[in-house]
Order: sequence, then structure tokens, then C-alpha cells
Amino acid sequence: MSIQRVLIANRGEIAVRVVRACKALGIESVVAVSKADQDSLAARLGDRAVTIGPARAAQSYLDQNAILAAALGVKADAIHPGYGFLAENPRFVKACEENQITFVGPRSASVAAMGNKLEAREIAKSYGVPVVPGSPRIASYEDAADIADQIGFPILFKAAAGGGGRGIRIVNKPSELKVAFQNAAAEAEAAFGDNTLYMERYIVSARHIEIQVFGDRYNNVIHLGERDCSMQRRYQKIIEEAPAAMVPQQTRQAIRDAAVALVKGISYENAGTVEFIYDEKRDEFYFLEMNTRLQVEHPITEAITGVDLVQLQLKVASGEALGYDQSEITFSGHAIECRINAESPRNSFHPSPGKITLWSPPDLEGVRLDTHCYQGYVVPPFYDSLLAKLIVHGKDRGDAIERTKEALGRFKVEGIETNIEFLSFLINDPDFASGEYNTRWVEANIGRFISG
Ligand code: ADP
Ligand code: ADP
Ligand code: MG
Repeated sequence: MSIQRVLIANRGEIAVRVVRACKALGIESVVAVSKADQDSLAARLGDRAVTIGPARAAQSYLDQNAILAAALGVKADAIHPGYGFLAENPRFVKACEENQITFVGPRSASVAAMGNKLEAREIAKSYGVPVVPGSPRIASYEDAADIADQIGFPILFKAAAGGGGRGIRIVNKPSELKVAFQNAAAEAEAAFGDNTLYMERYIVSARHIEIQVFGDRYNNVIHLGERDCSMQRRYQKIIEEAPAAMVPQQTRQAIRDAAVALVKGISYENAGTVEFIYDEKRDEFYFLEMNTRLQVEHPITEAITGVDLVQLQLKVASGEALGYDQSEITFSGHAIECRINAESPRNSFHPSPGKITLWSPPDLEGVRLDTHCYQGYVVPPFYDSLLAKLIVHGKDRGDAIERTKEALGRFKVEGIETNIEFLSFLINDPDFASGEYNTRWVEANIGRFISG
């Protein structure tokens, strides 16, 4: 392994996850922390921690210069970006390259190409991958009216620079175009500093299906199967599962092939995810975007393939070959991930930071918990609300669901509010067991939870 010391430019559960992968490979880990995270679990588990700035992410985890200075200061030969923050920032990746620091992820050119969804759609098309019927850049809502008519309502406005479900607005009829356009543009400007919008046909009965891919610098590309992330709220994932049991086998194979064709086409290196929307009514799939990083929900793929994706990221970044042929990737059982957040579902999902006075996760077979939390930990108010990921591996889908129900039922947290009860509501619903849910299920059913 040519990488000897990694700076981890992230926080929370993913920083802990990367520390563990480094330990397993005998790599030194230095955790970059803001003032609010000096005492974090990652800081304590890592070989070292280095403070990069104040609590506010703009002055710490998003401050490229501070992170590069820290990496050079501790003589790290690599930076692992985790997900979010600078993970998909092409300027940051380029700066790492220019400073001879290995970025644990793809080359800056790949990050740049896929970072703009309009550009990514064109690239996908050029490799024969179907994209959702849509538009080029829309400059004003007046321009949108004719194109929206051609595409057919409902449509979505989407931010070209978008991520994390932000900058997306649904439009059901022409009279809604103006307000939706303005809101999407404002949200995109605030979140990404780029208000470029485009339109896509809104797939009404949709499942979110994504393919985990991996490439190395020797042009080897493999996929590690798909994940179904259709249980969403406001275009953000809540529960994910692998494999995608509700999609016909032939279609699943076609989606996997499309993802591999794209990734081979762009000579992609390291871990990535190609996201698709699956139209259940038509049994058709379309490219949505490619995330050029490790995904939050990567552990369910690890569960069913037995491949440690973060260790593989480090190996491939250090110049090793993948070491797997496609035929060596096999799938076993079914895995489900629940995202446990510090939030109050009965109060519009308001964030609920504060001190955790009781932290009692379930200790059950087949259950993995990725977390940075512990009893006594104070959840800071500055960052996103993810507390833990509960990953359950069962022998089949039914078994995984039963174990998840039990694990959630036994998970006790006090001092702050969490969405555990809400997750229980979702997983216990007969629609989950039958698989009869799509990306709009939460919206349509949340009333029953609130009033129940
Ligand atoms: P995943 O598919 O891995 O679940 P998400 O879209 O939920 O990805 O995003 C993972 C994390 O990255 C979240 O914390 C989200 O807020 C953040 N994120 C996603 N896209 C961007 C972006 N373009 N800029 C900044 N943060 C982002
Ligand atoms: P982000 O970068 O914010 O993750 P995506 O393009 O991946 O944006 O879309 C996020 C979610 O929004 C998808 O998982 C899906 O639920 C929904 N979505 C996006 N595009 C469409 C579409 N054309 N039709 C239906 N739903 C969509
Ligand atoms: Mg997405």
C-alpha cells in the first residue's frame, strides 16, 4: 500500500467508518475536525486529530485551503473526503492533484463532468444510456412553458448542480411554473451557488434504483449490484435495501449493464454510484445522475457482497488494481439500511440537537450500526442530522424486514428526538413487506403516522 497517512476531511459516522478502514489496512489516520468536533468519536479513534476551523462548515469542512493546509501540515499523502462537503467538488480534487496529495476518489475530470447534471445527461446519452425525457438549461419560467407542454406534465425543475434533494420542484400544471421555477432557482443558488435549472418529466410511479460501481486505473470496471432507495421524503432517502427485489431480473441486469457502459466509457476510477429512476408502469429505466463518491448507503452493498468498499477505495487510490472480476462478485441474502436522524417527525422533521442521555442500540445477530454517537454525546446543531445507520442483513427480504423491525423496536435513545418510531412505522407497514411503495409513499401516508 503506497498510502501511509490519510487525512479524513469529514465528520460524523463516515469519519469513524474511514478510520476503521484505515486501521484494518495499517494506514495512519488523521481526522480533520472543526472546533465543535474536537472531542468526537472519530477524533478519539483516529491516530491523530487536527483542528481545521470553527464549527461552521463554511469555515472548516468546506474550507478547501484549511483542509489542504492541514493535509500538508501533517504530511498526509492522501485525503478521504467521505460524502457531502468537498467530496464532489472538482476544484478541491484538482487542488489535491496539484499538491501531489492522493484524493481517495475519482480524477477531478470525472468529478467535474458528472457534477453538472446537464452535462452528465449528455455523457450518459452518448454511451447509449437512456435519460429521463427533459430539457436543456431553462433560463426563465416563460421559456419553460412550451417545453413543459412537449415533455408533458407533471414535470420537475431540477438544479444542474443539485444534490441532497435540493433544488427540485414538482410542477403539475402550467399555472404552477412561475413559483416552482423561482423557488427551485433560489434554493439552488443558496445551496450550490449556481441557479441553473432544467426540466425532467416527472415519473409518477417511480422507484429509485442505483448501481454501485468501481473502476481502477487499469480500465477494470465492475458493478456490485443495485440498491433500491425508493423510500424517500422530499427527494431524500430514508430506508434503502439491496438487492432491488421488486424490479424484474431482466431489467435489473439491463440497468447494471447501462451503468457499467457509462463508467467504462468515462474511464472512471474508484467508487461511484449511477442512479436511475425506474418507471414501474412502463418497465423502463432512465439515468438520473452519477454520484462520484462513496454513498451513505454503501453498507448494504457491503453486507450482501462481502466487499469492504472503503478499504477498496483506499487500495485503488493507492494504485492497486481492483482485484475482482465481475464473476467474483456474488450476492448473498438481503440487506436493509435505516437512516436514524436527530429530528422530530411529528414536528415537521425539525432537527433535534442536544445531549444524548440514553443511547442503547440493539445487540442482535445480523445487525451492524455505523455511528459516531454514544451516551453523553452532544449532537451539535451545525451539521446534518444523521446519528446512525442501522444495517440489517437477513437470509432473504422477509428475514431482513423481520430483523429490522426487532432492531428498531429495541433501539432506545433519550435526551433528543429521533425518527426511530417513524422508521418503525414505515418498516411495519404491509406495503413495505409487499414492496408496494414508490418514491411518493411517505408523502401519501405520513398523515397516518402523525395522527396515529
Ligand atoms: P446518498 O445518495 O449518498 O444518500 P445524499 O444525496 O443523501 O447521498 O447526500 C449525502 C450527503 O451529501 C448528505 O449529507 C447531503 O446533504 C450531501 N450532499 C449531497 N450532494 C451535495 C452537494 N452537491 N453539495 C453539498 N452536499 C451534498
Ligand atoms: P439529487 O442530486 O438531489 O440526489 P436526483 O436527480 O438524484 O437528485 O433526484 C433525487 C430524487 O428525486 C430521486 O431519488 C427521485 O426520488 C426524485 N426524482 C428525480 N428525478 C425524478 C424524475 N424525473 N421523476 C420522478 N422522480 C424523480
Ligand atoms: Mg441523487
